[in-house]
Amino acid sequence: VAPYEELDPLVSRLNEQHKELVQRMNAIQDAADMRRDFTANVTHELKTPIASIQGAAELIRDGIARPEDVKNFAGRIYRDAHRLSLLVSDILTLSRLDESERSGDREVFGVAERVDLLSVAGDAVERLRVRARQKYDVTISLSGVSTLLMGNARLLDELVSNLIENAIRYNKPGGKVFVWVLPQGGRPCLRVSDTGIGIPEEAQGKVFERFYRVDKGRSRDMGGTGLGLAIVKHAATYHGADIRLDSRVGEGTTITVTFPKQ
Ligand code: ADP
Repeated sequence: VAPYEELDPLVSRLNEQHKELVQRMNAIQDAADMRRDFTANVTHELKTPIASIQGAAELIRDGIARPEDVKNFAGRIYRDAHRLSLLVSDILTLSRLDESERSGDREVFGVAERVDLLSVAGDAVERLRVRARQKYDVTISLSGVSTLLMGNARLLDELVSNLIENAIRYNKPGGKVFVWVLPQGGRPCLRVSDTGIGIPEEAQGKVFERFYRVDKGRSRDMGGTGLGLAIVKHAATYHGADIRLDSRVGEGTTITVTFPKQ
């Protein structure tokens, strides 16, 4: 039997262990809740375009759609099928990123290779520039220096493209997007800044969550899946990078991703 004076530390150690156990159980419960919410959200997000495709196809098949409306319905089918394909591809990317975090496997997306962040950003800007100008009247400019890091080119492309797409999507007509690639204190750094609508302060902590949207209508109309920033966050984690978000409603948003020293 422990002498009386040894009981105090024993009791406090037990208390600490109890606290730790409760914390762990809460974390497990939170993870289970998140998985359930995610499944419910995925089901809903998939069902909506499927129902719309079925409805339009039925009207055409049964000859109910007037000939002049057939083209509109075909357009709807095409748009919703495209939306489904974006959703499925984002869900797959996220589940592979989850898998990598769960198993600690750093090669889920292949062996790390030397990647130039500037050329990844350059390719993304080239690909998105014309659409940004013609469809949204938004100009993109890129500046920086060649910055090498060890990582996965496809995942880094997803990260950069999602940030630039958001900077276009949530901009104002005539707005601007600035992309910088620079080493900061020896750490590779990517910054995407826009002159867009901004993110309200109370939403800033939530935008990296799956399917969280400040404005559901705008996100969907512009082709957003609601998974872009969740992919950005996990792709950053995959590369050991930190993310910083600065935003002011009506003025714009800046997201900075800082990679570890190479
Ligand atoms: P979505 O597919 O809806 O764009 P994201 O995960 O990429 O999904 O972003 C989540 C939400 O964060 C968006 O719906 C939007 O409300 C907000 N958001 C993201 N980027 C920006 C930005 N650059 N400016 C303003 N709001 C943004």
